[in-house]
Amino acid sequence: MWIVKLLNSETRYDVPKLWSHLVSSHDVIWTWEEEKHIPLEDRYPFCIRLSRFLVLQMILMCSICFLFGSDIGRYYTQCEKRKECFAYCNEDNYPNLICDSLDITITSGGNTYKDLYIYPKPGDADSSYAECESYIKSAEDFNESPSDNSRLERLDVCFSKSRYPEGNYDEYIVCVKSSEACEDLYLPKRSSTAVGDFDISYVFIGIAIANVFQYIYQFIVIYVIKIKTENIESMKIGSWKCFMQTFLLVCSAIVTLLVVWKCSQIAIYGYATELWITFGIALAVDQGKSLLFHVCVWYFLLRRCGYLKVTEDEYVNERWLTERRDKLLFNMRKSCGKIMESMYYKRFSIILLVVYAVFVLLVLSIYSQLSDTYVLDVMDQVFISIFLFEILCNVFVQSIGFYKDYFNIFDTIIVLVSFIMFFVGQNTKGLAVLRLLRLVRLVIVLRKVSVTKRNNSGYATALEETLAILKTLKSEKKLNFRQKKELTWAIEIIESNKLYDVSIDQKVEKGSGQVSQDAEAKKWIAMATKTANDPLQWFDRDLDDYLYERKRDNDFGEDKGMFEEEFRQHVPLPDRTHFQLEKIFDDIAKWRFNSFQYFEMCGNQMIAHFIFRLFHFYDILRKFQVPVVSLKSFCNAIFEGYSSSNPYHNAIHAIDVTHRYNYFIVSGNLMKYISDLDIMAALLASVIHDFQHPGVNNEFLIKKSHAKAVRYNDISVLENHHLASAFAVLLDQNCDITIDLTEDQYWVLRTSIIKMVMSTDLKLQEDTIGSFKNYRGLPNFPNNDKEKQILMNMAMRISDYGNPLQPHDLYFKWMALMMEEFYQQGDIEDHLQMDYSSPYMNRRETNPYATQLSFINIVVEPMALIWVEFLPDIKEDVLTRGLMENKEILKQKSEQVIDNNDEEDVNLPDKKKRRDHILNNDN
Ligand SMILES: [Zn+2]
Repeated sequence: MWIVKLLNSETRYDVPKLWSHLVSSHDVIWTWEEEKHIPLEDRYPFCIRLSRFLVLQMILMCSICFLFGSDIGRYYTQCEKRKECFAYCNEDNYPNLICDSLDITITSGGNTYKDLYIYPKPGDADSSYAECESYIKSAEDFNESPSDNSRLERLDVCFSKSRYPEGNYDEYIVCVKSSEACEDLYLPKRSSTAVGDFDISYVFIGIAIANVFQYIYQFIVIYVIKIKTENIESMKIGSWKCFMQTFLLVCSAIVTLLVVWKCSQIAIYGYATELWITFGIALAVDQGKSLLFHVCVWYFLLRRCGYLKVTEDEYVNERWLTERRDKLLFNMRKSCGKIMESMYYKRFSIILLVVYAVFVLLVLSIYSQLSDTYVLDVMDQVFISIFLFEILCNVFVQSIGFYKDYFNIFDTIIVLVSFIMFFVGQNTKGLAVLRLLRLVRLVIVLRKVSVTKRNNSGYATALEETLAILKTLKSEKKLNFRQKKELTWAIEIIESNKLYDVSIDQKVEKGSGQVSQDAEAKKWIAMATKTANDPLQWFDRDLDDYLYERKRDNDFGEDKGMFEEEFRQHVPLPDRTHFQLEKIFDDIAKWRFNSFQYFEMCGNQMIAHFIFRLFHFYDILRKFQVPVVSLKSFCNAIFEGYSSSNPYHNAIHAIDVTHRYNYFIVSGNLMKYISDLDIMAALLASVIHDFQHPGVNNEFLIKKSHAKAVRYNDISVLENHHLASAFAVLLDQNCDITIDLTEDQYWVLRTSIIKMVMSTDLKLQEDTIGSFKNYRGLPNFPNNDKEKQILMNMAMRISDYGNPLQPHDLYFKWMALMMEEFYQQGDIEDHLQMDYSSPYMNRRETNPYATQLSFINIVVEPMALIWVEFLPDIKEDVLTRGLMENKEILKQKSEQVIDNNDEEDVNLPDKKKRRDHILNNDN
């Protein structure tokens, strides 16, 4: 069943990284590294991991100890045999009591024995004679003239008859009495092996035995961990678990005691060094084997049928880091790391490495000529010990990460082998391997010196160094998100080389409305800098703004969040609506904007939403410290001021116009000519330009001698009223959004708004278009505040009269509404028995398409043509797909209407008359 599951690819999960797998399965790595891929609460603390590791190694040590111990035991019993043989002799020859002392001396294997006796062979076949006879060494065992070094152990029990031929018996052996010293200190094979006094087979046999016990131990540990006690009913399970834990503890204690006992015994017999070397090699082999095994498991098994679902990153969290940081071990590592990072340490290590290199070269050249190399060997060993210590320190500080550089693995192996070889190879002088290792070591030394040098002075310039420092800082885990972003920003600024761009401050000039004395100088500077190619770019894009904008772009996520909260608080709309509106605003810079749909969604919050959103977009809220509460009140008051009973001149028209102005700023690139304060003025002017529009035109008011007409002396009556009443709202304490503007800024704003709104008077067609026509051809237009105002007025006007430039579906909707408002005025005039202000007000006699066509031809098209000439980016949207298409449709529809009305009743006015009437219709 599980094979089917295993083969089914759907059951596969993400395979852990090799390192994660090793961390969880390899003894040493598991002990050293935290298991970051499992949840924090499931991880074991370092002390637990360390004790598990120690117990496992203790088991290994134990098995090796017993291998050593068995040999020692054998020879120990051989000493005991002397007593036994003497007893056997007495027993076999009882009651003759012939096992008596001999007054002779026997030398064997370099040892001299004096207390001897004759053991005659008894007639009884069932005797112990044969056993004692078996202890006689064969002829090859003897070395008649041994040197001190090759003396055999004083372990002889019996000798053959040939050693004492004068005996009176036919068959006998000569045995050693127990009173003769039995030599403990010499153990088997002491001088029989060349490499060392240990048997390499012990390593493998020891590992094999230890692994069996280690696995049993680990299985029990896993079993104990898996016993879960969740409630009071599971007391039986609980006590079983407790028993198992105790059992494990007792086992560990027994193993520990065995190891201590055996080790001390082995140490007494003089085998301590051999034992440790055997253990060290066994440990390395065992761990190496385990590493290889787990890599194979990962490569061949896990990668094919992986089982671990969580990835490492999910659990590497701040909590883990802070907890870790508090630990003593961590602090020790940190301070140790600090020392190793210090300049003194680095200098010291370079000097040491160079001295070592010289030393090695020296040794290599003179080694073979020396008879006694002991001093050199010791010096070499001192160096090696220092390097070993350094490696240990590195491992301590960097953990296993130190070995991510493969050279370090190589280096460690070389140093370790050299270190061990010194002890092992002391007897066999001039070990060839050791010389070879020195040579290899030299290569590593040279590499290290070059690496250290590179780290010390790798940066060509101060700037590069600064960048490197900033980048290192950025990778610091302690930094929060915002700090990292700021660093990123700083790095970007430095990298993009904008730091040294010349800053040209035009703020004073803009604010006061005066031409600065330094204008010429500034222009000259601008010419000399990068912006020279685009003479207008410096106009209001100084370094501050540039830098701020980059920062704002970086911070957008965060700021947006903060704004969003405030925004939703002040523009109360359902979250869902806000969400949909955001989508609409994603396309706000496009020409097509359905203000009817927008009104449906926003309702009475329409102006507030639009203005808040755009003010945020241009960062006006921050730059001019606009109080959001006042802005909210202001927008609501403006919305209230638009009469909803007007078919055309209502709040939707205000937003429609504002959108068009905004489109010119963004997509028409008007932004490069005007400042942020100008943008604020433009948006406000657009939004208030028909404030409190009564739904009738100037003509009507003047004719009726309306109070407003009287007040404004029949001059731009409605425009004056829009402005005066809107500014009255603005100056209300609750609505004053200009409260934090400087005096200069306020007057610039006010003047600009007034001029823009006044320019929407239909009668000022020639003024507005005429000045624009005259000035736009000047070099560097707009070159001063006056020219800039002409440009802005033109934009305002074309925004206001821009319906025929819209996509045709929207335009015809607006057209119908505009005509309806005319007709309503006509109805009133009808009712009051006045003359129609214009024949188009007559609902019964007007061909609306023809009227619109004339309106376009006389008012809109001339404006649009020079406008797209100035802003060529918008030509496609506004002229080709907007105006021209609409005109085509109008022509067709107009002809249809004429065909339908039998021509006699139409009575169209002549062109001159038509023009006059059109110009009297305020839009
Ligand atoms: Zn208007």
